Amino acid sequence: MEIGLYCPACRKSARLDTEALETRDSTCPRCGHVAPVEVSPSMRDEGSFDRCALCGQDRFFKQKSFNRVFGIGVVLVAIAFAPFTSPPYISLFIGAAIDGVVYLLVPWVGICYNCETEYRGLPGIAQLEPFEHLVAQRVQARRARETDEQKRSRSEA
Ligand SMILES: [Zn+2]
Ligand SMILES: [Zn+2]
Repeated sequence: MEIGLYCPACRKSARLDTEALETRDSTCPRCGHVAPVEVSPSMRDEGSFDRCALCGQDRFFKQKSFNRVFGIGVVLVAIAFAPFTSPPYISLFIGAAIDGVVYLLVPWVGICYNCETEYRGLPGIAQLEPFEHLVAQRVQARRARETDEQKRSRSEA
């Protein structure tokens, strides 16, 4: 299993592998920030999504790890060559076909709605739903409420 973790301090992606998961902490290779990581037993054993290893939140969506820059690049090359190919504009179809095949081949990744941590190679990814704005809004509202409560309990203490 491989978890792609976005460092909460510098927002750069850092990779966590299975061995690192045993240590419970992940150190960002770029800024040295130590993020506490806690992989739930069912995520480690069955690859299911019940709790985010980084933020503890329980909503996830799935997304193709498709490189958009690559996809747009193929389309631009196809457009540039379109008038010169024979038959004309056949390059547009070839470009679209290449993008389509690459899209089919790249794997799904599971992503945490709250902290955008990426999970790769987990069997549970197949059961996740694609991104939904309503769910994202609900997760954000819950997070805002929780930070409010934290602030309040801190000021009361
Ligand atoms: Zn960092
Ligand atoms: Zn998370």
